[in-house]
Amino acid sequence: MGAPEAFTATTDVSHWIAGARTAGTSARSQIVYNPTTGSAARKVLLASTADVDAAVSAARAAQPAWAETPPIRRARVMNAFLALMNQHRDTLAAMITAEHGKVFTDAQGEVTRGIDIIEFACGIPQLLKGDYTEQVSTGIDNWTMRQPLGVVAGVTPFNFPVMVPCWMFPVALACGNAFILKPSERDPSASLFMAELLQQAGLPDGVFSVVQGDKVAVDSLLAHPDVRAVSFVGSTPIAQYIYETGAHHGKRVQALGGAKNHMVVMPDANLDQAVDALIGSAYGSAGERCMAISVAVLVGDIADRIVPLLAERARTLKVKNGMELDAEMGPIVTREARDRIENYIGIGVAEGAQLVVDGRGRKVPGCEDGFFTGGTLFDRVTPAMRIYKEEIFGPVLACVRVPDLAAAVQLVNDHEFGNGVACFTSDGGVAREFARRIQVGMVGINVPIPVPMAWHGFGGWKKSLFGDMHAYGEEGVRFYTKQKSVMQRWPDSIGKGAEFTMPTAK
Ligand code: NAD
Repeated sequence: MGAPEAFTATTDVSHWIAGARTAGTSARSQIVYNPTTGSAARKVLLASTADVDAAVSAARAAQPAWAETPPIRRARVMNAFLALMNQHRDTLAAMITAEHGKVFTDAQGEVTRGIDIIEFACGIPQLLKGDYTEQVSTGIDNWTMRQPLGVVAGVTPFNFPVMVPCWMFPVALACGNAFILKPSERDPSASLFMAELLQQAGLPDGVFSVVQGDKVAVDSLLAHPDVRAVSFVGSTPIAQYIYETGAHHGKRVQALGGAKNHMVVMPDANLDQAVDALIGSAYGSAGERCMAISVAVLVGDIADRIVPLLAERARTLKVKNGMELDAEMGPIVTREARDRIENYIGIGVAEGAQLVVDGRGRKVPGCEDGFFTGGTLFDRVTPAMRIYKEEIFGPVLACVRVPDLAAAVQLVNDHEFGNGVACFTSDGGVAREFARRIQVGMVGINVPIPVPMAWHGFGGWKKSLFGDMHAYGEEGVRFYTKQKSVMQRWPDSIGKGAEFTMPTAK
């Protein structure tokens, strides 16, 4: 593969309402940085309540006709969108690298995982098939159907500006809803590009909108009476706020929050595979993944064997401009996020953890003002430490030593987050027990980042998810539709006279 083309547009990132780019009414905007150079790249507009109202009314006007469109024709629009997303995969990946900083090859992977959900949504006619019982009583049939909610909204985080929106809108649209996306203000360009692709694919104007913005836009969506449901992915305090506020306003809400994912390494694990898995999952995307491994739980004597190997690899990570194809780790999304991560490293030292590799102060030649930090490795971290308890969301791996499997399971189960977890072992019995006993939503056995495929659904437990239904998959279809049950009989089978007792099968 040749060098990919960088994304360098300087125009303001606007809203997308009623099928067109618009500056809306808001006078507010925010700088979008290129984290690799540390320079201001462009501005993103920040929506006012009036802008949100405009998006909701366009959505309300367009949604009934879209809901009336037969599912197979909605699926054809999704199919056309799927082809366009595949065609423009590298353009989207370059946008992600330019605004998020993750390496281009990782950004390509992100787009591909988003495309998977679009592919899933193309099967909507099958997914919306109801069930039917003939003759629940003599001459009476009963069936269920699932109908769209109306106008729904999604609020998404910075760390997957393509994939996480794709967890939501393809399924919501395929189900017959209109969708309003409020992407992260830190990397907003991809959302606008996807809106244009949806239009090219034949989606009627108004059915998909993007409102750029911050808390003002989110609060306006949460309070708007015509928004029926809100999907959120982001940090736990905001997830809880969205869940509670959305519920207060009578909305259906799914709010996915933060994480602290553990990887348990048993003494019988394949050492090389475990090292590769830990390095890739702790430092890939600079640890800015909700499924990143941030805690290595080292069982028994594996600790003394694995820590030196991890240290060697953490020290020699290729940290550089993510557009260079051999880069393993790019910069952190913002200067503030980088400083927060490096501050946590100081906290870990003060708490008494053993700092094996210190990534602070990393300078990348040619990108001296970029928001870089290196990979950091701590050993002998304990559950009482803040660097163990709190989500750092950066390339910091904490090793905790435990004596046996029971202690490892207890440690994981006692943590307030429950997004993802992994266990590396060569013992099938251990793997089975681990998968059954662990209090976490997504489990990997010798798989470090077990992000479920499009048709399985994604969701954590405990403080990693507020709400009842996971994202995408059949859970997503259920979230974006409401069930209706129809019971029917025809005059020739209606009995004589009023019935005053509870009807039972006859
Ligand atoms: P964030 O919570 O700061 O922001 C997420 C979204 O909420 C953004 O669109 C932002 O504009 C909006 N927002 C921020 N503050 C708000 C407020 N006070 N009121 C209303 N809206 C507000 O998260 P982030 O920094 O963009 O993303 C990183 C976080 O997301 C991490 O905690 C990570 O674990 C989490 N995450 C979770 C998952 C998951 O599936 N569980 C996936 C990706 C990211």
